[in-house]
Amino acid sequence: MGKEKQRQFKGIELIASENFVCRAVMEALGSHLSNKYSEGMPGAKYYTGNQYIDEIEFLCCQRALLAFDLHPNNWGVNVQPYSCTSANFAVYTGILHPGDRIMGLDSPSGGHLSHGYYTFGGKKVSAASIFFETLPYKVNPQSGYIDYDKLEEKALDFRPKILICGGSSYPREWDYARFRQIADKCGAVLMCDMAHISGLVAAKEVASPFDYCDIVTSTTHKSLRGPRGGIIFYRRGAKPRKQGFVHNHGDDSNYDFEEKINFALYPSLQGGPHNNHIAALAIALKQVATPEYKAYMQQVKRNAQALASALLRRNFRLVTDGTDNHLLLWDLTALGLIDRNYEKVCEACRITLNKCAIYGSISPGGVRIGTPAMTSRGCLEEDFETIADFLRRAAQITSIVQREHGKSCKDFLKGLQNNKDISELRNRVETFSSQFAMPGFDI
Ligand SMILES: *Cc1c(COP(=O)(O)O)cnc(C)c1O
Repeated sequence: MGKEKQRQFKGIELIASENFVCRAVMEALGSHLSNKYSEGMPGAKYYTGNQYIDEIEFLCCQRALLAFDLHPNNWGVNVQPYSCTSANFAVYTGILHPGDRIMGLDSPSGGHLSHGYYTFGGKKVSAASIFFETLPYKVNPQSGYIDYDKLEEKALDFRPKILICGGSSYPREWDYARFRQIADKCGAVLMCDMAHISGLVAAKEVASPFDYCDIVTSTTHKSLRGPRGGIIFYRRGAKPRKQGFVHNHGDDSNYDFEEKINFALYPSLQGGPHNNHIAALAIALKQVATPEYKAYMQQVKRNAQALASALLRRNFRLVTDGTDNHLLLWDLTALGLIDRNYEKVCEACRITLNKCAIYGSISPGGVRIGTPAMTSRGCLEEDFETIADFLRRAAQITSIVQREHGKSCKDFLKGLQNNKDISELRNRVETFSSQFAMPGFDI
């Protein structure tokens, strides 16, 4: 654990899905709340002795609705999912029958596995594709943007019962109004998985999926900066008349997601909620409603813009030429770099980021880079200029090692041992990172 603390402190964390929580969140996670069993919804727990746990969970739900500006008459929330993957599967389990159809963004296009991924060869990877029928939509290989016309055509043929928007490596805004139109045309429930951007949504720094979607799921540990877990929001109360949603059964005038989703999560899929996590989430959500948090999310966006323009100025290629949110996709194909080799060089220099498929380009893809974690440590635009230089230097080193030792994994890794360029860059990275405090702990 001590070694991991040092690694977090001395490194540059650019994995777009990661963040650093504050001390209060960590204290709640490591607290006595871990001791209690509290199966069931708050106010209706299976075991006795849950009066205070209930208070905590009610408070957490109240703050969750407040953080996203939702009225309890129209939206309900479940804060018990252990992860966003469980949250998504609970939605499918609650409102679908086995074998029903789901459509989400394809994983190589930037979607998440839990939306029903199966491989090109047909291997079903996600439980969503094992127990349901899934067919993905894709981004346009030239532009990198979602191809809405193709999506509509596909959706009208496939007729999914759930249409999912939201993904893990999509740098641009989502057209929720268009998704709503398409969902209505094929009679699908519209679900948004805002796992990556929920912090930006709460701070109103990106468009809100709540205006158009029926169900919204998220992680709580990415841009939101809470403890590791999942959350589900669902519409409740009367359906708006005008829009004439078709949903799963015809003319019912009230939404019926609440009971189905809550039952699917517990008892169908999960056991006792992790109360330490729920308390930590309540703490994080209180922070989300503050002006400081809004300022943080604005900085996350500005930093992503600064990094994108710094890389573009150095003549590198970004998918869609930039970003509207907290992450960018750097296409390494043009540089002749193997994504895995670049990722390894960065790791050796204490920069963590991850390789990702660049849809439409051949095998060596690119890397996904996000700004939430380093922004939590206090990095500003000029720091991301420095980070852009480190990233360029790592690309040069990758290129030299590939040339001198070969591109294959085994040969390449040999070239990283006792490499002077690497130790020089690692020293610079460590010196840079050590200037910034860690939010949750002292070193
Ligand atoms: C990260 C992510 C998830 C998975 O979250 P876990 O909590 O790790 O299960 C689901 N959906 C999307 C879009 C994600 O980016």
